[in-house]
Amino acid sequence: MSCELLQKERTGVINPIFTCQPAGAQYASIGIRECIGIVHGGQGCVMFVRLLISQHLKESFEIASSSLHEDAAVFGACHRVEEGVDVLLMRYPDVKVIPIISTCSTEIIGDDIDGVVRKLNEELLPTKYPGREVHLIPIHTPSFVGSMVNGYDVAVRDFVKYFATKGEPNGKLNLITGWVNPGDVSALKHLLAEMEVDATVLFEIESFDSPTMPDGNHVSHGDTTIEDLQGTANAIGTLALNRYEGAKAAKYLEEKFAVPAVIGPTPVGIRNTDAFLARVKEMTGKPIPRSLVIERGIAIDALTDLVHMHLADKRVAIYANPDLAIALTEFCLDLEMKPLVVLLGDDNPFYEDDPRIKRLRENVDFPMEIITNADFWELEDRIKNRGLELDLILGHSKGRFISIDYNIPMVRVGFPTYDRAGIFRHPVVGYAGAIYLAEQMANAIFTDMEHKKNKEWILNVW
Ligand code: SF4
Repeated sequence: MSCELLQKERTGVINPIFTCQPAGAQYASIGIRECIGIVHGGQGCVMFVRLLISQHLKESFEIASSSLHEDAAVFGACHRVEEGVDVLLMRYPDVKVIPIISTCSTEIIGDDIDGVVRKLNEELLPTKYPGREVHLIPIHTPSFVGSMVNGYDVAVRDFVKYFATKGEPNGKLNLITGWVNPGDVSALKHLLAEMEVDATVLFEIESFDSPTMPDGNHVSHGDTTIEDLQGTANAIGTLALNRYEGAKAAKYLEEKFAVPAVIGPTPVGIRNTDAFLARVKEMTGKPIPRSLVIERGIAIDALTDLVHMHLADKRVAIYANPDLAIALTEFCLDLEMKPLVVLLGDDNPFYEDDPRIKRLRENVDFPMEIITNADFWELEDRIKNRGLELDLILGHSKGRFISIDYNIPMVRVGFPTYDRAGIFRHPVVGYAGAIYLAEQMANAIFTDMEHKKNKEWILNVW
């Protein structure tokens, strides 16, 4: 009776949990101001990803495609990147940052995007756009390696690597949030503000919860500036909240500029939020104020109302980006729930060495499966054919059909969540996130009790 780390044994994937690397690079790039990426590949590599991100955030934003066709797939398509950069610069006079994001097809045909960038820097930019600040950054994200998760990690590293410039110490903390929602960014900024910590929040998408203004539709842009990225080399330290979404950049800054890197924790739940604040305190010397002790107390009180009566022993399946999935698992355990299945949608070989997974393997005393390279069939097969009984599913909207088909309540969390209103606005991090998640889970279970007439009398006032 313990926690096992398993690989999906089947070849092939039935209903994938993650999409491909370029998607992660696109999500990172929308966090930068005055930036429009060019995805070098077929148009679908942008169209579907953009649709997914737009459906998730309910906002419009800009991203370009080199849009290659059959001839380019055979003979190469570097010229389409050159034309694409030129068109972007002509059409958008404010654009300064253009990542060139490769895809499976352009990596296979061997298009030399680094060479194209060199050529553009030597020819097009000085001749047609003299004096204009333009940064072209090649980002290699072949879809046949890893997943959208490493795509995000690689892109964050490449942006930081390109811009970070040694200067005077700026006394700021670099915060790499990883793949989060606007609501999470607001919650993290709130915690840092309460501690009076001056931080550079990197790949910052808070403004993707955009207003509709009287003068018309709003196109959303990220808030991390070129100066923010340049200043990362001069910070007092880098706190990367996620091991698989931003740690590469934190390690680069440590190795190259001696900026100390701290990786984790993903501040989901009380325990991990406590650890996050303790890390911030260690790195900045700033005390944790009483206001946050009160917030913590309110969260503990809210959870105490739910745990024993309603959440304890509830059987859960969890799937999400790996740092989020692991942090949700830890939070569920703290709430005395039983995460029976945790699905990680890629085959990252480092999961084996992840200290959080090691702790789960050492300490969990009921049968828990952590399945890597997992797809939705891994979950459905267990429910349909192997007697897995669940009280709750935690995960993004792509797993909704399992919840519907097998009548299992579900709480939407992670990316993408498009089939419930406003999920992107609510934080899952910090003490506020702990309250939100626990109450969402409890309310999903309460609704299920009412629909199934399953001990619904417990919800009565008596
Ligand atoms: S798998 Fe390849 S073709 Fe499909 S979206 Fe990803 S990069 Fe594009």
